[in-house]
Amino acid sequence: MIGRLALLLLGGMLLPLLGYANADLDQRVDALYDEELGELFLWFHQNPELSHMEHKTAARLASELEQLGYDVHTGIGGTGIVALMDNGDGPLVMFRADMDGLPVQEKSGLPYASTAKQVDWDGNEVYVMHACGHDVHVTSLVGTARIMAERRDQWQGTLMLIGQPAEERVGGARLMREDDIWTRFGQPDYAMALHVTSTVPTGMLIADPAPYSGADTVDILIKGVGAHGASPHSGVDPVLLGAQIVVALQSVVSRNLPPRRPGVITVGSFHSGTKHNIISDSAKLQLTVRSESASDRALLLAGIKRVAENSGRLMGLPEDMLPEVVVYENEGVPPTLNDIAMLERMRGVWTDQLGEGIFYNEERLAMGAEDFPFFTVDPYIPSVYFAVGGTDPADFERQAAGGPPVPSHHSPLFKIVPEPSVELGVKASVTGLMDLLQAP
Ligand SMILES: [Zn+2]
Repeated sequence: MIGRLALLLLGGMLLPLLGYANADLDQRVDALYDEELGELFLWFHQNPELSHMEHKTAARLASELEQLGYDVHTGIGGTGIVALMDNGDGPLVMFRADMDGLPVQEKSGLPYASTAKQVDWDGNEVYVMHACGHDVHVTSLVGTARIMAERRDQWQGTLMLIGQPAEERVGGARLMREDDIWTRFGQPDYAMALHVTSTVPTGMLIADPAPYSGADTVDILIKGVGAHGASPHSGVDPVLLGAQIVVALQSVVSRNLPPRRPGVITVGSFHSGTKHNIISDSAKLQLTVRSESASDRALLLAGIKRVAENSGRLMGLPEDMLPEVVVYENEGVPPTLNDIAMLERMRGVWTDQLGEGIFYNEERLAMGAEDFPFFTVDPYIPSVYFAVGGTDPADFERQAAGGPPVPSHHSPLFKIVPEPSVELGVKASVTGLMDLLQAP
């Protein structure tokens, strides 16, 4: 008896010193996956819905959270959900999961692949797939909700869980804010969110200062003077002007933005003309612009305007016919930047609770965007957005050996391994929330 007790005590003292994971939470989350989260993931995966149309997903998420004792509010910003658990004096902490799928036909070859279809925004029936892994996010949110409810004697404050519509169309977070959620349900002291990622092996997290870039949607409307294709001297050719603008725009990032600061200007569409021998009188360019600070954003947008207008002058257009630059303020998103103090705090918690080796170091090479900052930028709410690994490490080894590449997000081949992804999502969420939700 005594020997065993001593062993237990010794174990209890040694485990934290060894950086051993939170074994009790490990076991509970593992059991929970077998009991209900595995089945729940399959249901979400096989019932994906397009942005703004997440009706079944929201209803299932709402009923799961209601059964766990949360005070659930539905129909926010469209199909959005706010679920609250008030557990005494303490901070208000928000955790968000996005719910939407994509108009992609799943070709992953998985036995549980989605065959769902839905009528899209233009009235066409399309295949729908959770090709970005938001099914992992909602499943993990339910797991987190359950463990937080089971362990409410270990935390204090109010937990706010958010099911967000339409992340893929960067519209859902804004719509939920326009529904006045902070006034109605309280303004969070902290906010968190996660994304599963196929570029990271299962069992690992990324928690870096700048997870996503800001994005702007920009049109350049070009006026020309129409003419016969055989008489270019009597017109102003908007195709040539557009082409010069596309080329000249390349100098903005390469010559105006300081070289160690990130930025992208991509012309994604260029439309003009109707026929071989007609010089058109208009052209339209559509751009996406990426940046990571307000000043860089201003620099890039000013550069686009300067290039567009002066290219018009170069072609001899009068001042009232210069190309017009339209920035769609409602379609832009600010960069997702983590609060540095909160990030350090969460990284400390995850190192202690999930082990020293939990973080994956990945150099961020692209400038993807997210609409989560609509929750955190105005007013400023300290936030941490982190990534959870979703690909079997063996798949990376096969890829490195010349095998099939690991499919990217939004691909018909996209797949993640649900069990370890959901489980780590829950463990990282619960340990982070437990640390934030403490008595004042
Ligand atoms: Zn996504």
